[in-house]
Amino acid sequence: MKTIRLREGKERSLLRRHPWVFAGSIARGGADAGETVRVEASDGHFLAWGAFSPSSMIRVRAWSFDEAERIDTAFFEQRLRRAINWRGRLAASGLLPSDGQRLVHGEADGLPGLIVDRYGDLLSAQFLSAGTERWRETLTDALCAITGSSRLYERSDVSVRALEGLPEQSGWLRGEGDTALQIQEHGWALGLDVALGHKTGYYLDQRDNRGRFAALVRQLGCQSVLNCYSYTGGFSVAALAGGASEVISVDSSGPALAQARDNIRRNGFDDSRCGFLDADVNATLREMLAAGRSFDAIVLDPPKFAPTPASAERAARAYKDINRLALKLLAPGGLLLTFSCSGGINADLFHKIVAGAGIDAGVNAAILQRLEGACDHPTTLEFPEGEYLKGLALLRV
Ligand code: SAH
Repeated sequence: MKTIRLREGKERSLLRRHPWVFAGSIARGGADAGETVRVEASDGHFLAWGAFSPSSMIRVRAWSFDEAERIDTAFFEQRLRRAINWRGRLAASGLLPSDGQRLVHGEADGLPGLIVDRYGDLLSAQFLSAGTERWRETLTDALCAITGSSRLYERSDVSVRALEGLPEQSGWLRGEGDTALQIQEHGWALGLDVALGHKTGYYLDQRDNRGRFAALVRQLGCQSVLNCYSYTGGFSVAALAGGASEVISVDSSGPALAQARDNIRRNGFDDSRCGFLDADVNATLREMLAAGRSFDAIVLDPPKFAPTPASAERAARAYKDINRLALKLLAPGGLLLTFSCSGGINADLFHKIVAGAGIDAGVNAAILQRLEGACDHPTTLEFPEGEYLKGLALLRV
């Protein structure tokens, strides 16, 4: 077993069970990509077992802080079983109202770099680190055995793999067949494609917020709805389920909009009451303002404008701009659901940005609810970086 010795004083974060060791913290030692290493403090005492990643800034990701643990097939089976079992318990108690579920959420489940979503009986996974790449066969076998699923599709076609020295790849790891499927969410039928969709196919993290949106649209009696960055129309279906009479979905992806229309039809709603704009959201909001339009409810769920804290300032301006425009487009008494999924922007900063947008727009708004990701995308106490999705439900007053 190879050993990684840390520089003096660099043991603190591992002692707090934070799973990352940055390259600059290492005094000596090395290993092959994904190889299990023993990480020790400058005085030689054990800190963690981890996966080494020679080309990444995050040089080691910890698997375990228990010296007695062996990193082997049984270890991964046990970690996966724990993650999958507690989702099962949430589902059984009604807290996961969908057969689309995140089964493994990387660091938060003690499996750094592994993302696994279940869509009915199909699994869709991302192997994002050298460690998960090394153990992919073990992980794949265990996932299929524990869930009873015979089909697992890989979506490791993401740029972060390059930071780990890994090529992008996707395709069937187990089973084969049609990659288009349908899930049930809050009782709605939603079509998606695990090969062609974003990420693993769908944005499961917004499930609870789509449910809340449907309820708020109904309770507030919202009729006209603008769903910005709609992707496949999850919030659009939610609006119609909540009783909206007109829903416009805006996205820059044509295929996503085609799926959005299909999803609206699948649920028996009349798509002639719906608009689908293949366009840039910022430009669309400006055009709608110029045309004197207004909406009873608006959703703003943009892509990650700030992947890192370094890009937060430029991203802050972009968030402020779309929020200012959306607040101006809200009818009096209207509802705005606004989100950021940027890791580089925390909930406090996001609140400040939206407050600034309200001032610039000359619009008063009250916070009805603070929003976050769904509970199957947990943030652990030790790994606050895992928290990325934050949002506000605002009422124009
Ligand atoms: N709200 C969606 C998820 C949104 S993901 C849901 O609940 O499923 C972000 C979406 O923004 C993606 O579909 C992407 O195609 C779209 N997008 C990215 N940049 C855009 C832009 N400038 N204008 C319009 N859409 C954009």
